[in-house]
Parts: sequence; C-alpha cells; structure tokens
Amino acid sequence: MMEKEWEKLRFEMVERQLKRRGISDEHILDTFLKVPRHLFVEKEFLAEAYYDYPLGIGYGQTISQPYMVALMTQELHLDKENCVLEIGTGSGYQTAILADLVASVYTIERILPLLNKAKDRLTKLGYNNIYYACKDGNDGWDEDIQFDAILIAAATNSIPKQLFQQLKIGGKMILPLGSNLFQRLTLIEKKEKRYEIKPLCGCRFVPLISRGFTNEE
Ligand code: SAH
Repeated sequence: MMEKEWEKLRFEMVERQLKRRGISDEHILDTFLKVPRHLFVEKEFLAEAYYDYPLGIGYGQTISQPYMVALMTQELHLDKENCVLEIGTGSGYQTAILADLVASVYTIERILPLLNKAKDRLTKLGYNNIYYACKDGNDGWDEDIQFDAILIAAATNSIPKQLFQQLKIGGKMILPLGSNLFQRLTLIEKKEKRYEIKPLCGCRFVPLISRGFTNEE
C-alpha cells in the first residue's frame, strides 16, 4: 500500500471512530492522523491496522483499539510540559501518541521481546523523548520521579500502590479497573490526602500481571 492510502485510512479512522464518539482535542486528533499505526501491528493484521478493534501482537497481548487509546489520552488532559508514565508498552502505539503530546514518556513492559520491538519501531520513527524499562510495572519507575500522569494499559482490580505514590498531587491516573473479564475505565485524580475516582465506561483489557506467575505462563 502507498503512503497516501494509509493516510486516507487514518483520516477515516479519525472521522468515524474518534470524532463521532466525542474525541475533540485537536492536538490528539492531529496525532492520530500522523502516527502510522500500521507499523505497530503484525504483518498478518496489516489490512486491519486502522480497524475499530484491538489486534493480537503475540505473547497473548494486544494493541488497543484506536478509540480506547484516544479516550485514555484525552481524559488525562495532558500538556507539552508533562512527564507521563505508561504501564504496558505492548506494541508501542500508545507510547507514540503520548510522546507526540508531552515532554517525556516513561514506559514499562514485562515481556522483553515486545519491549524491544516497540523500542525499535519508536526509535526508527525518530522519537527521542521515551525511556524504556523491562520489569513489573506494579513497582513503578526505578528512579524517584513524580509523574503528571500515569496510564495503565492492563486490567487490575485495585490501584497499584507504588504507582499511586509516583503520581504528583493534582496528577491523573487512568486505568481499567475490575476483574480479568470486564473492567471499567477509571480516572483517578490525586489530591492532598485522598483521591477522586471517576468511572468512565466499560472496557476489556488484558490483565496486569502481578508478582508470581499464572497458569498460562
Ligand atoms: N498500549 C498497548 C497495550 C498493550 S496490552 C498497545 O496498544 O500496544 C498491555 C501490555 O501490558 C502487554 O504488553 C502486557 O505484557 C503488559 N503488562 C501486563 N502486566 C504488566 C506488568 N505487571 N508490568 C508491565 N507490563 C505489563
């Protein structure tokens, strides 16, 4: 396919999947018009790269649906100065969207081959404001950084404590909160001594793996 044709698919994705559902932030829409999502999917799914659903990326993981990536990004109300932590790099697509909108993105992925692949793509695309770590994201970033926003791209039934501690006062965290089968996309805003919690909509993400191992591994 020619670059012009990919561009057309991106335009249609933005019009039909994002704008119609209420994504209105111009910076975010511009970013979705720009980032080549087809470079973040596996060859077998190339024709479906801009479709309205998640796609397999190997290791039992998925690249999120475009709308879900946009919604999570919009709800964080980011600005150019922000420093963001992302848990679950996966394909690196969400990472690219974030990196276009903020000063720096710190991204954690527990599956090394996925992280390496994402890093390779993002580096080739010229991103130089992304920091990568392969570890359990529940523990947060190794250095003591206070983030303006934290995006968790995997399902958990409680707010990971260490991650909450790495969030600035006034900062926002977005995560799919619930069981392995069904979650509610939830926005958390950290206040001085408490937090505000805002449920947004139903969603379905792969689980955030916690310490130890599961039967599937
Ligand atoms: N935003 C990504 C979503 C990837 S799916 C994309 O659109 O491509 C979620 C990712 O979270 C998976 O790659 C999975 O391996 C990773 N993950 C799950 N539990 C994790 C943990 N405890 N620490 C770090 N990454 C984790």
